[in-house]
Amino acid sequence: MPDEPKGGLARRDFMIASFATVGASVALAAGSKEVNAQETSAPPADASSGTTYTGEVIQGKKVVSALDVNDLEPGQKHFLYFQGVQMPTGQFWYVSVMVAKGAKPGKRCVLTSGVHGDEMSSIHTVQTVMNQLDPAEMSGTVMAVTDVSRPALESMQRRWPNQGRGIDLVDMNRVWPGNENDITAPSRHAGLLFNRLLRPNADFAIDFHTGTTGFEVAAFNIAEMDVPEIKAMADLYPVGQIFNNPTYPSVLHNAFNAAGIPSFCPEIGAARHLDLEMIALFVEGTTNVLKHHGIIAGPMGRTGKDVTVFVGNSAFPILATEGGIVEHLVKLNDKVEAGQKVAIQRNSFGEVVAEYTSGVTGEVTGQRSDVMSEPGNPLVFILFNQQGPDDAETYPE
Ligand SMILES: [Zn+2]
Repeated sequence: MPDEPKGGLARRDFMIASFATVGASVALAAGSKEVNAQETSAPPADASSGTTYTGEVIQGKKVVSALDVNDLEPGQKHFLYFQGVQMPTGQFWYVSVMVAKGAKPGKRCVLTSGVHGDEMSSIHTVQTVMNQLDPAEMSGTVMAVTDVSRPALESMQRRWPNQGRGIDLVDMNRVWPGNENDITAPSRHAGLLFNRLLRPNADFAIDFHTGTTGFEVAAFNIAEMDVPEIKAMADLYPVGQIFNNPTYPSVLHNAFNAAGIPSFCPEIGAARHLDLEMIALFVEGTTNVLKHHGIIAGPMGRTGKDVTVFVGNSAFPILATEGGIVEHLVKLNDKVEAGQKVAIQRNSFGEVVAEYTSGVTGEVTGQRSDVMSEPGNPLVFILFNQQGPDDAETYPE
């Protein structure tokens, strides 16, 4: 959710890239593989043309290290584990893969959630869509992975606890498309998933998120509305806001877009709990998208035409200037004017130490839900339309 400035991110990526070039070809003990840290992240040429079963079965589910949904029996649902990166113990981080393979051929959809480990409503949305599918009636395939960042999910926290130099919390939505030979396990995990599971099976893809722990968001889609294929899908959701912004290149939905696979990112309320009312809106929208692509039949449900949708291209962050207890004066989805007071903050004596006003006219799209705040924390994001180039440094995700 609230995040570091784009400039800081770029500098960090540059530092990592520089470090990676120091790595040399390392010859290891007999029986091990020679590893070249400078190998590219390019997948094997046959990554999209085959399924590799490891021969293992976990809790009744077969394990794959590469998947082509064309190899699966039509007219059925399939439940598999995909073998991700290794843990320090030498075991693997497996992720759960559901495939609804239609009886008839058609487009292939990929749904993902759990890139951040505290975003529960996104997982429930994907599971609900999958549970409603009847492969016997489908033309095409829907594949879902609900637990992309397994280590983060195990403790229901946003970031992956990487073991590189002591525990380092890695935001897995800043590493896509990953690199199977990178210097961190999360990037390798992303590379394995993207090259051998997600990209080869997607004609279009949707990566579901929510706000993050301590900061809740309204129901909205992050979608590049000047791309017709993406706009056509985002318009099919009966939710009140669209954030029309390209956002960071290293998020999963942009890795799909860079690979020529139209993709966008729904945001479903607060982290850590299930918002069943909001989930229903995104299930309806996603079902509409599957109908739009001919994978399932039937009349459209409610779409963006049935609600009032506010489309903004920028998110204005209001940052805490003091420490203290924050009291919001507006709610999610409220319209606010430039100069309107949106929050106050009190110290431990109950004295008002800060009053916060919006710098723009727009709609409230995110609010800090943890009441205590340090200086610097985003307290409110206002979705608005910026004229000219986008210099917003943060956005809700
Ligand atoms: Zn997220």
